[in-house]
Amino acid sequence: MAAGSQETVRMHLVMFPYMAQGHIIPFIELSKLLASRGGFTITIVNTPLNIQRLQSKIALLRLQAENLDIRLAELPFDGTSHGLPPNTESTESLPHSLFLPLLQASQQLEQPFQQLVQDIVRKEGRLPACIISDIFLGWTLDVANRLGIPRIMFCTCGAYSTSIYYSLWAHLPHRQTDSDTFCVPDLPHIRLHRSQLSQILAVSEASDPWTLLWKRNTSCNLSSWGTIFNTFEDLEHDFLDYFRRITGRPVWPVGPILPLTGTLKTKKIAWRGNESAVDAETCLQWLDSHPASSVLYISFGSQNSISVSQMRELSLGLEASQQAFVWALRPPVGTTELSSDHLPHGFEERMRANNKGFLIRGWAPQLMILSHPSTGGFLSHCGWNSVLESISQGVPIIGWPIAAEQFYNSKLLEEEVGVVVELCRGIDGEVRKNNVERIVKMLFDGHDEKGIELRKRAMDLKAAATIAVSSTGSSITHLDDFIQKLKYSKGMENQG
Ligand code: UDP
Repeated sequence: MAAGSQETVRMHLVMFPYMAQGHIIPFIELSKLLASRGGFTITIVNTPLNIQRLQSKIALLRLQAENLDIRLAELPFDGTSHGLPPNTESTESLPHSLFLPLLQASQQLEQPFQQLVQDIVRKEGRLPACIISDIFLGWTLDVANRLGIPRIMFCTCGAYSTSIYYSLWAHLPHRQTDSDTFCVPDLPHIRLHRSQLSQILAVSEASDPWTLLWKRNTSCNLSSWGTIFNTFEDLEHDFLDYFRRITGRPVWPVGPILPLTGTLKTKKIAWRGNESAVDAETCLQWLDSHPASSVLYISFGSQNSISVSQMRELSLGLEASQQAFVWALRPPVGTTELSSDHLPHGFEERMRANNKGFLIRGWAPQLMILSHPSTGGFLSHCGWNSVLESISQGVPIIGWPIAAEQFYNSKLLEEEVGVVVELCRGIDGEVRKNNVERIVKMLFDGHDEKGIELRKRAMDLKAAATIAVSSTGSSITHLDDFIQKLKYSKGMENQG
């Protein structure tokens, strides 16, 4: 290739997601977007097992669009000294009790990461244009500062939940009151209930390891060059503005970052994050056999599950509702394998026999299911990716947040947006068969006022999300602004 050709002048971006599916999936989507719209070379950095899993995915992307220059790079990782089982490099394969050790272990990647970026500099004779790294990897700012490169945080969560989360970790307001409800210090109009605290936050102290880690992380994130959010202005404008105020730096909401709509209804989309545990064709045929908007999809995401007793009540309630459903089952909390004892006696057989339930043991082709016309509701833990996937398809949500910022996602979408009705909270929350039946019927009954309103809001949001990512929409305008700033900036102005 001759000097000065397109290949030699591409700017290089280094992208570093946290080791969790809910983070890696949107990072891949953002990489695609930046490589195609900005013409950048992208290197995605991660630990060996995560990179190996991505290899065939990236090869497929290159086949789909030959000019995408997306590369993968491995960093050596061994979490055993932090108490992680050998060969575990993702939250997906860990119980909650090992999430902190994984986060702590991720800091050992600092030196190898710096080395990797320096190798890129040596090879190309210039600095990468920026490092785009995860909200959990605040320490990458130190590497960026040492090498003189702008660091951008890519927040795979929403702006509302991130703002609340930052404030809670900074002030621990729940430790200063015995009351069941309390205000969020920097956002006093938001009142939380204790049951909306993750287990980790509920027991946090000013100097415990999580709190210290989060404080350090937050201060790095707030002093980075800017923040990209996987959200859109219309959905979270006030909270994006709040973020702009507290950082004093650019904030670019460029979402929902999802594959192109045309690809969703094909089998190709089944392979997203992980390989689907079911044959995509079989799943599509099952969905095809049901009327439009008549199927409830149930999933608690890539790393959460519910208790055995909750699983039983949920099953009984679903059966009583007589609504068709697809359920992505993960082993219940405290177990490593799902057994038929975890479900009511004969449940699976009955659901199969009357064509009411399609059970997926393991990874479900979620986006393919949500984009199918038969899907009319999503019982979700309200992970942010799931939320965006659901609303971008016009599917209303029954909320059952389990951990982390999922409680605030559910709160935002129920109280401020009106597209969620909450069924339960956490793994200790009470869930009764009758309540499941009532809420499912409410959502699907074409005459229930609340159900009608939820479906209408979902369609409004779908329209708003579609406009945001259209060629003149707010998200694409922000994306182009980010690309321009990157291409024409003088470097690290304002980075702390
Ligand atoms: N996902 C999937 N199949 C599954 C479970 C999850 O495709 O069986 C995908 C889902 O579509 C989403 C991501 O994994 O893109 C999960 O992210 P989210 O933020 O919803 O939840 P998390 O797993 O991070 O709690």
